[in-house]
Amino acid sequence: MKKSISLFVFIDALGWEILKESTFLDDVLVQKAPIGTIFGYSATCDPTILTGLLPRDHDHFSFYAYDPEHSPFRNDLFIQLMRLVPKALSSRNRVRNVAGRIIKRKLAYTGYFNIYNMPFRLMRFFDYTEKKDLYQPGGINSGAATIMDYLRDQQIPFYLSDWRASEQNNLSSLKQALTDSGTDLAYGYLYLAAMDATLHAQGFPHQEVTDKIAWYENELREVLEVAQAEYEDVRMFIFSDHGMTNITGTFDLRSLIEKTSLVFGKDYAAVYDSTMARFWFLNDTAEEPIREVLQQVSCGTILSQQTLHSWGADFANNRYGDLIFLLDPGVLLIPSHMGERPLAGMHGYDPHDKDSVASFSTNTHLQNLPERLDDLYGLMKEEADRNAALNSGRE
Ligand SMILES: [Zn+2]
Repeated sequence: MKKSISLFVFIDALGWEILKESTFLDDVLVQKAPIGTIFGYSATCDPTILTGLLPRDHDHFSFYAYDPEHSPFRNDLFIQLMRLVPKALSSRNRVRNVAGRIIKRKLAYTGYFNIYNMPFRLMRFFDYTEKKDLYQPGGINSGAATIMDYLRDQQIPFYLSDWRASEQNNLSSLKQALTDSGTDLAYGYLYLAAMDATLHAQGFPHQEVTDKIAWYENELREVLEVAQAEYEDVRMFIFSDHGMTNITGTFDLRSLIEKTSLVFGKDYAAVYDSTMARFWFLNDTAEEPIREVLQQVSCGTILSQQTLHSWGADFANNRYGDLIFLLDPGVLLIPSHMGERPLAGMHGYDPHDKDSVASFSTNTHLQNLPERLDDLYGLMKEEADRNAALNSGRE
């Protein structure tokens, strides 16, 4: 028998409000708890899980940042051609998906790439911030090391899912790795991301969500069985990056901003994410009228420097915006640079709102439960070190 392995199971969007209503692996998981999320989307939360750092220190937040000088879209002929296509055609999902794939191939980025709903005519103002695969060496913008980098460096054997692969593929490749008799793994990272889409489409509670949780329960039970046949001690930790908030209304902020006489690209730049709008002021006259518009809006808040600092989202040189306007939980920006159509669920609101909160559960008794996503890195490291020491002492 191999000695000990710790399996970290990432289930995208399995928030505490969702988990606490279910009997998910109740006979296995001895501790289930809320764990604080990080302000932003998965593009922010996942680097925090992998590095233990807050957004300002790993420098990942949202996909688009105003940076015309470094824009990879700046002199792209294909994008200039797409600007000539009538909006009725170029805004169609299928057309945008194909165009996105063409751009992605040309840029050869290894990270997650999606042009979303960013108009082709505005792309040249923005840099794309997830160019590299987060899980591979050098994947973090600030140059920080991830838990995988640490394990590679220490030559601790581990298993890592492929985030591009399906859940089914990731589950079978983990089981394969567990039974591979040549390697005593100390650590495994299983990536399961499909529930996020179900929750966006259906909200919560919903039968599809209940069914999905039941499916995870069966699959993870099987993983445990396979692991327990190989290892004396199988320690499992299941966590999400954020929760999900049911959408109760939509708001068109872009039209209000465009009613001012300010010119995009000359006076200001803006990215309309799903739950927040981020503004850059390009001259001295832009800030006041934009603030005036925002102060009239009752379904959102201008985030203060103090709030951004306490959330770890105050970036050097205001990389991700001079001003961030955050919508109230449940209100979705439509239209936005992320999409044109409403959804049933969204995340990326105030991290302290109950529906934003992520979940953490385990089959072990931990003295100190991780309180926020940035605590997971320390736990992962501790577990991997512990198992590596035990496994190397194997007879
Ligand atoms: Zn999502």
